[in-house]
Formats: sequence, structure tokens, C-alpha cells
Amino acid sequence: MPTMMKALRKMSSGPGLQLESVAVPEAGPTDALIRVRAASICGTDLHIYGWDRWSQSRIKPPLTLGHEFCGYVERVGEEVRGIAPGDFVSAEMHVNCGYCHQCRIGQPHICQNLEIIGIDRDGAFAEFVRIPARNVWKIDPGIPEHYAAILDPLGNAVHAVLAGEIAGHTVAVTGCGPIGLMAIAVARACGCSTLFATEVNPLRAALAKRMGADEVINPVEADAVARVRAATSGAGVDVLLEMSGNPTAIQQGFKMLRAGGRASLLGIPSQPVNLDLVEDVIFKGATVQGIYGRKMFETWVQMTALLKSGRLDLEPLFRERYILDRFQDAFTLLEGGQASKVLFYPNGGVDMVQK
Ligand code: NAD
Ligand code: ZN
Repeated sequence: MPTMMKALRKMSSGPGLQLESVAVPEAGPTDALIRVRAASICGTDLHIYGWDRWSQSRIKPPLTLGHEFCGYVERVGEEVRGIAPGDFVSAEMHVNCGYCHQCRIGQPHICQNLEIIGIDRDGAFAEFVRIPARNVWKIDPGIPEHYAAILDPLGNAVHAVLAGEIAGHTVAVTGCGPIGLMAIAVARACGCSTLFATEVNPLRAALAKRMGADEVINPVEADAVARVRAATSGAGVDVLLEMSGNPTAIQQGFKMLRAGGRASLLGIPSQPVNLDLVEDVIFKGATVQGIYGRKMFETWVQMTALLKSGRLDLEPLFRERYILDRFQDAFTLLEGGQASKVLFYPNGGVDMVQK
């Protein structure tokens, strides 16, 4: 067992990351130490890499990034039950406090004192990561390794899609980044009827089709609201899954929603958004839901069942695989606007770049 390891870290306030040699974390009595097999880069990691306004206010360097991963349990603390060295696992990276009001009433995903591993404490872009054992999730043997590395964003999509009825319902997904694309696949697997998607990036629009959207509309080139309303006999869709965080897309999404429909909002706008509450929510009798993280652990159970059913094909999302030393190439690729999941293999085991 080594005492030092490689870790991809934000070392100071400013753009960029550094590959550092740091001590392998100690596992406390209630922790698990995981040997990382594969970790995936999230849009949030790109924000931290570029050091945007949000990162400046939230991130306290030095910090190891990475909150989407899978790996093998290396060691567990003496109080840990239910997992053992050698288990193949992922983890819920939102760590709840256990004592606030929401934690006490069974809503830990919206805990008042939530900390995120890879954002508030050292994450998984490293050879090893320390995780509170109660957050560790054993991977069903039927789930492929590369899928196990992206359960965190897939869980966001599953949480949003299954936050209300979906079977037999018409759906609009606004924004086809990785999470929007996964939401398309999940909604399809759960038996939605016609699914419309909006996206401004042609690469991502093409992926949306491959993931199962019936019609993908570029709202810059066509009147997306008119198109969706026309295709639904003027009524609008039953379900809006807002996956962009873009104010225009959010406003259009509400105009596409039928009276009595459900709007599940996951995308995070960087500023307050103007909404016509009277026309789009109140007179419509719409149900509006904020979607944050994944339900602990209902979403993980649902996601496992969906993956085991074999109905979720996420292959179009995967792109290159890198060892940590090639992190610059990985981030540059993603900054180019790909909606793909790029994987790191911090302990090696892949031959540099693979498709
Ligand atoms: P992303 O930024 O890769 O995807 C957003 C997509 O929206 C992009 O493909 C973009 O081209 C598209 N878009 C932009 N303007 C548009 C418009 N006017 N119409 C249609 N599409 C438009 O992000 P992602 O990683 O897929 O995540 C989706 C959103 O969810 C982001 O806002 C992210 O910050 C947020 N997020 C929320 C949670 C949560 O728990 N609520 C968790 C993770 C991510
Ligand atoms: Zn709490």
C-alpha cells in the first residue's frame, strides 16, 4: 500500500489545475478508502478549471477535484458495516449532516449543511479517495464499469425524470448537455410518449437524436414553442425537463408546458430569471419542482434497476479515456463544447487515449 499518490488539484485561486503528489488519505472509523478505477469530468469541474465567478466564491484551494467515479474498496474504518475491501463501488458525493431539519424528516438531499466531495473536500481525480462509508454505493455486477463512473450525473437525470409521472406522457427536454442527454434516455426507457428536445449546439443536437429524442429543435433557427405546441394539438407537453439553466430556454420551456403539466427544473441559471408566473404557472395550474442532486438513496435504487433492465444505452456519451497526466488534453477537448463523458483512469489500466 503506497503512502503517496497522484492527485489533480486546484492549488491556488486562478485558472488551471496541477498534478501533485500528496499523501494517501487515512480512513477514519466511519470511512472507506477507495482505489479509484475511473472518474469522469463534469461541467462543474470545467467551471473550476476555468475559475469562473461561482468557483471563486465556493472553492477553497488546495483541493483535489472529481465527484463522478467508481473504484474498489481498499480499506474500511473499524465501525464500518456492509462494505468490505475488494467491493466495486461508487458513492453519493453529497454528504449530508444528519441532524438538520430536512435530514431529520427524511430529505437528506436538501440538507442545510450539505458538503460535496470534490468541491468542498478532496475528490476522486486521484489514485485514492476517502468517502464516509454511509455514502458508498455497491455496484451491481450487471452494470458496466464505465457506466459506474457516471452514476452521479445519471442520478440527476433519473431524479428529474422520475419526480412525477412519465409513462405515456409527452416530454420536452430543454438543453442537451450530458445530463439532458441522459434524461432523454431515461424518459424513453420509462415509457414516455413523444419526446421533444431543444439544443443550440449541433453536435449535442445530433446526440439528442441518438439518445432517443423524436424531434430536436434549434431555438435559434426555429420557433421551438410554436413547433411543440403544433405537434401536441395546441396543448403543449405534459412534462418539462429543464436541463440547460439558460433563461431563454427556461422561459420557452414554460410556454411549451400544457395546463396542468409538470415542470422539473434542474439547470442552474447564473442569474435570476424572469418568469410570467400568472400565465405560465398559476393560470396553468402547473406543478413546478426544483431538482437537486439525487434522492438518498431512492434515486440510486431506481437507477440500478433501470441499468440492470438493459434499456438504458448511454454508449453515445462516452469519448476518450485518459491517464491523469493527460489532464490538459482532456479539459481542452471538453472546453470545445463536446457533450461527452471523458474518463480518467488515475491508476492506469487504459492505453492512453481510447475511444
Ligand atoms: P451543460 O452546460 O453541458 O448543458 C447545458 C446545455 O444547454 C448545453 O448543451 C447548451 O448548449 C444548452 N443550451 C444553452 N442555451 C440553450 C437554449 N437557449 N436552448 C436550448 N439549449 C440551450 O450542462 P450539464 O452538465 O448537462 O448540466 C445541465 C445543467 O444542470 C447545468 O445548468 C448544470 O449547472 C446543472 N446541474 C444541476 C444539478 C442539480 O443538482 N440541480 C446537478 C448538476 C448539474
Ligand atoms: Zn442536514
